[in-house]
Amino acid sequence: MSDIKIELDNKIYNVVVERKRSTRNTYIRVKENLDIYVTCNLLTSDRFIIKLINDNEKKVLKMISIMEKKKAKEEFFYYLGKKYDLVYINKKGITFGEEKVFVGNDFDLDKWYKKEALKVFQIELDKMYNNFIYKIPYPSLCIRKMKTRWGVCNVKTHKITLNLELIKKDTKYLDYVIVHELSHLLYANHSKYFWNCVGENYKDYKKIRKELKQDE
Ligand SMILES: [Zn+2]
Repeated sequence: MSDIKIELDNKIYNVVVERKRSTRNTYIRVKENLDIYVTCNLLTSDRFIIKLINDNEKKVLKMISIMEKKKAKEEFFYYLGKKYDLVYINKKGITFGEEKVFVGNDFDLDKWYKKEALKVFQIELDKMYNNFIYKIPYPSLCIRKMKTRWGVCNVKTHKITLNLELIKKDTKYLDYVIVHELSHLLYANHSKYFWNCVGENYKDYKKIRKELKQDE
């Protein structure tokens, strides 16, 4: 790895160069800290890299502006109902502070959320299933990002799909969605019998349901 500095549009940027034997072409990326990352072959010279960036100045500036916008959008971090300031650092992994979360520049937040959701959702599903007052088949669990729904139940295959976004909220919402989907294993509709069943297994459901709807 070697470090170069380059001036684009009156601003100085760090250029981090990673030379790899196996790389044939030269790739330019912009990281969250706005460093320009170049991956290239062992034989590629600094001069060539600087020329390449200068020749593609417009494209690189575009990549920088996209990253700036992405960062502005992601200034907060939500986990289990708590809101943190999101701070990018030059270290690997994720560290929780009292009010802040520090993540490495190339940390994959979605992947981390998914990993956490696999643990948390399974624990909550087991809890709600064990407390469920009717006998129902034990469902398999699927987690994915959904645009318009918090949960889906496939009555035939006994599969419950939960929205990954629930990991950002207090578990009381997750628990309600689980009870809602478990109740569909008894009633494949939204009849009064269905809502009765939801109410028997989750007392506060009306309030929680309203809050979730307002959030959509
Ligand atoms: Zn439903």
